[in-house]
Formats: sequence, structure tokens, C-alpha cells
Amino acid sequence: MSINRRNFINLSSLGIAGFTLQGFVNKSSAKGMKPIVIATWDAGINANKGAWEVLSKGGSALDAVEKGVMVTEDEISCCVGLGANPDRDGHVTLDASIMDHEFNCGSVAFLERIKHPISVARKVMEKTPHVMLVGAGAQQFALAEGFTLEADNLSESADKAYKQWLKKSTYKPVINVERQTTAQPTSQLDDKFKAPARLSNGDWNHDTIGMVALDAKGNLSGSCTTSGAGFKLRGRVGDSPIIGAGLYVDNEVGAVVATGQGEDVIRVAGSSAVVEFMRQGKSPQEACRLVVEKVRKIKKEKAADIQVCFIALNKKGEHGSYALHKGFNYAVQTAEGHQLIESPFVM
Ligand code: ASP
Repeated sequence: MSINRRNFINLSSLGIAGFTLQGFVNKSSAKGMKPIVIATWDAGINANKGAWEVLSKGGSALDAVEKGVMVTEDEISCCVGLGANPDRDGHVTLDASIMDHEFNCGSVAFLERIKHPISVARKVMEKTPHVMLVGAGAQQFALAEGFTLEADNLSESADKAYKQWLKKSTYKPVINVERQTTAQPTSQLDDKFKAPARLSNGDWNHDTIGMVALDAKGNLSGSCTTSGAGFKLRGRVGDSPIIGAGLYVDNEVGAVVATGQGEDVIRVAGSSAVVEFMRQGKSPQEACRLVVEKVRKIKKEKAADIQVCFIALNKKGEHGSYALHKGFNYAVQTAEGHQLIESPFVM
């Protein structure tokens, strides 16, 4: 296990409460239901702030996880929202899913020209007898629900990245760039934390925003939204809109969301598998580790070329993560403030 000593020491010396080798414990939540929200990557810091506006006022985890990831959908980044990297034909196609504490869930996939796919996913959940709508049908539904059809333009940075990618036109996912991030106490974090960086060579990075939250009533919910793999084949759908793969919530147990190579999250029914390990009594971190280990075993030497990461939150407000490779982090927000935590990893 590569829960690296350096991170452990960093966290300990910063006095971050509740860190154990088994993961992170939102200790205050053990007594009552203290809200907490966690989200993937450093973009999760801003997203959590959006969610916290809801949670801190006693709002529901469901409203929080929708509002939270909408923040990232509004930012220009490589991998979320209409400003993100396009598919190989030059179109941005979006996947999103949402799930509440009663197994209600909704998702959209291969959705184009709609700014907030997460809100369309919620409408699918609340207004249709279905769980998933895709492509033209998802767009038609969104328009009928009053969403606006945005221009079919690439953002400036996506256009640049796409032009660069066209020079080689190879589909070669790049595992996440190791960022200069170590867990920091609230006071050391810049309030205007930057959206995820785009790789200068035009290849893609994994930066789906996935979020899970526990509200004051003790209910869990989760959300996930992404443009998926940059320069993917037209029509490709990843794990993010697939309930049980990219996202899963069981209010008796916990909530889990994934990021990384979607195909390899789907083949292990990743988020659902993590929830099942937590049901068996594993800590969130250990449950994530077991599923990441399974991916490593299945992929054999190919595991060197992919990234897969999970974050998990259990019913008690304990949270943890695991990644295949170094470089993954996740953001945590509670009443005590926010943190960015470097994930342990297996390779
Ligand atoms: N999981 C996403 C997908 O495969 C990508 C990511 O997390 O960045 O679509």
C-alpha cells in the first residue's frame, strides 16, 4: 500500500483531526448528523462551496450535490461542462448522474449543447419513469423542460487543445498529472482555487467532478458530471452516467463516486462494489482500496496506463479514497472548513 508516509506526516503535522490509517473521520458527525460534502479533485473545493451553501442552511444532500457540481459545470476546464475537451469529431458531449437517499436516480449521456447536464439528470429522475436518457432524446427532453440550447462552439482553450490533438489524432488517455497539492488547512487554501489545468499537449486528463454529501437529517446523495474522455470516439459513454459504476448511493451504508478511466470503472461496477464493501464493515478508504486493487488485478500490466479513483462517504460521515496511481486528490467541506486531501494509491 502506498499510503505514503509523507502525506501522513503532512496531515499529522498540520493537526488535521481524525486522520487514521483507515481513513478520515468527520468525528463531529459521529455524535449527530453534521453535514459534510466531499468531491473529486481540486475543482472539488469550489464545488463543495456551492454545496455548502445548501448544507449549512439545513438543505438536503440532494440539492447540495446538484448545486455543488453546477459550479464546476460553469467553469472552463478540460473535463466538465461545455467548455471542456470535445470528442474526436470536435463536439463536446456530456454525461451526468444523480442519486438520492431513496434509490431514486437519473442520468443523461451523450448530451450536447446543454449547460447543466446534472440538472437534466435530476429532471430525468424526478419527472420521468426512466433512469437514463441519451443523445438527441436527452437533449429534446432538456429543451422541453426549459433548458436553453447553447451554441455548438468550443471554448478557446478546448479549441486550442483540439487543434493540437488533431496533429496526431491518437487516442491515448494520459493518467492524471501529479499536481503540487498536499493536504492543507483551510487558512492556506486560496479562495479562488483554479479550475483543473488542461494538459498542454492536448491529451486529456481525468477531472470528472463527482460529489457525495450527508445532510443534517442524515441522508446521503451523490452527483457526477463530466465531458468524459477527451477526443473519445463519437458516441462514447463513460462510467459517470451509469448508476452503480460512476455513482452509487445506499442510504443505509454510504455513497461513492468514481473518476478516471470510465471503461475500467464500468467493468467492476465500481461505485456499487465500494458500497458493498462498506456494508461488510470496511472503512470508506479500505472499501475503495479493495475495488482499485481489483482493477489492478484485472488490467495486469495495462494498469500502468490508466487511472481509476474512488471517493466514499459512509453514513457516519467517515470518508476516504483510493486511486490506482499517485496524483489524485479530493476536497472535503464541513462546518470546520475545507481541506484538500491527497489520496493513497496502489501503484
Ligand atoms: N470517468 C470519466 C469517464 O471515463 C473520466 C474522468 O473521470 O475524467 O468518462
